Amino acid sequence: MGNALMVQYAVLGSGSSGNSYLFTDGTVSILIDQGYSVVELTRRLSQFSVPLSTVQAVFLTHLHPDHARGVGVLSRRLPIPVYAHDRMVAEQPLLIEKLGIPEGKLQTVCTSELVEVGSFSLFCFETSHDSGGSVGWYITHQDTHYMVLTDTGITSEQQMMLAGDADILFLEANYDEQMLRSGPYPAMLKRRISGNHGHLSNDQALQFLCESGFKGEHVYFIHLSECNNDPVILEKVVQSMTDLPFTVCRKNQWYGPKNEVHL
Ligand SMILES: [Zn+2]
Ligand SMILES: [Zn+2]
Repeated sequence: MGNALMVQYAVLGSGSSGNSYLFTDGTVSILIDQGYSVVELTRRLSQFSVPLSTVQAVFLTHLHPDHARGVGVLSRRLPIPVYAHDRMVAEQPLLIEKLGIPEGKLQTVCTSELVEVGSFSLFCFETSHDSGGSVGWYITHQDTHYMVLTDTGITSEQQMMLAGDADILFLEANYDEQMLRSGPYPAMLKRRISGNHGHLSNDQALQFLCESGFKGEHVYFIHLSECNNDPVILEKVVQSMTDLPFTVCRKNQWYGPKNEVHL
């Protein structure tokens, strides 16, 4: 950990087995999504020397289990709020109830509404996914902007503008189009994944990256499908398209600044 004014961020995990992104200033930590048990989350945080007790808020992108599974138990353990888009709560009341977030801890926000937690300010933007009220999050700390864009079938003008201003971008690259086409999934599921409310392909992610004019410090490619993507293929495609520093986040690994890879 650097000094308290520095922000450390980490991909605690990304993919179907669990998603969570950490931002911490050394005193206050926030999470985007929480797809882990408290034990597993604590273990992953400890890889970055971040105590669980510093976590002061969780922000949800959507309610699929790999993103939201652990948020209820965490919010019962710690005295912290859980932020969700108001449409997420309105459209999926049963799923929200099932999470078991204690009364008063669920905070709803609308698109672009600013939330401040410690030295961080955040707002959400809409994504296009088969989970009502799905969003991505834009996190600002001092002059640095972080953008988490995952689980979206298509991208928007607004997302493109935000990415153009971001310093660190976490961008979904879920599947390789050829691998999905020839892979083992049933046709209906293939259509779901590649549809407008599914996931971004490697090509879509790269097109988005180039069109956005992103000129920040680093891109983390996240949420790779285990079955329909290959990190090596993605790395080659990215290298052929851009000189930007990037990391392809593999399953069951976690990544911090300096691109340390932890097995
Ligand atoms: Zn999802
Ligand atoms: Zn997902």
